[in-house]
Amino acid sequence: MHNKPVALVTGANKGIGLQVAKDLARHGFTVLLGSRRFEAGEKVIHGVAPHARTIQLDVTDSASIAQAAARIRETYGRLDVLVNNAGVGHGGAAGRSNAQIVTETRMSVVKLDELRTVFATNVFGVLAVTQAMLPLLRAAPAAKIINISSSTGSLTLNSDSSNPLRQYASAYTTSKSALNAITQALAIELEGTKIKVHAVCPGLTATDMSEYGGPVEDAAREPVRVALLGSHSPTGTFSNAQGTLPW
Ligand code: NDP
Repeated sequence: MHNKPVALVTGANKGIGLQVAKDLARHGFTVLLGSRRFEAGEKVIHGVAPHARTIQLDVTDSASIAQAAARIRETYGRLDVLVNNAGVGHGGAAGRSNAQIVTETRMSVVKLDELRTVFATNVFGVLAVTQAMLPLLRAAPAAKIINISSSTGSLTLNSDSSNPLRQYASAYTTSKSALNAITQALAIELEGTKIKVHAVCPGLTATDMSEYGGPVEDAAREPVRVALLGSHSPTGTFSNAQGTLPW
């Protein structure tokens, strides 16, 4: 029987996911660092914790997801925290600036194939991983699903004409709106169970996804805070470091 709580972070070989993995390890979790490129995970795993493990996991590949779930079941028999962090900002040509990506992926012009690619990771990937991990989450004494979303996906905030962020509405932000809807629907479905479901916005962060923003150390704070909440904490929340966000 494995005594430490077990956390899986998807897309954790770099960026915000890697920092969340490091912080959860520091708080006593056995961290499974999900990476679609196993070797990229292995390159950074020693900086996470001695007992952390890389797990090959492409969230758009059902065989990879099934293998990861089987491996966790065999080794640990349960999962205490699932952080659905893997995400993409676009699904088209590399090398575009953030401004270009927004312009080219607005709803009036976005190529449906590009929209499908963004949703494949940010929406269907999250749901596929979550469904595969649910039996393991049910086997934990208390479990949390934390979906890394964005305040730019908030339909309420985007309805406010004074909100400057609404100008970035694009493939990416609509995928986060869909992710929020799924988060809320799952939280409602699992109400009264041991599994809490949350959406968290890490805030604008300088990573390979974004040219601008704060450090990953700041971005990891809210997801980690939510992961550490006690088993009697509320479910179905959407928050950032400043507090509750409206759906
Ligand atoms: P990065 O681009 O630095 O990291 C993204 C991670 O996701 C990488 O590890 C990448 O793997 C992985 N990934 C992408 N597609 C897949 C896939 N199909 N299967 C498994 N892993 C995959 O981005 P961030 O760290 O900035 O983003 C992390 C999360 O935070 C995302 O969900 C993003 O939407 C969200 N977010 C980011 C903000 C920001 O300002 N940066 C703001 C709000 C939310 P690989 O290395 O192989 O490409």
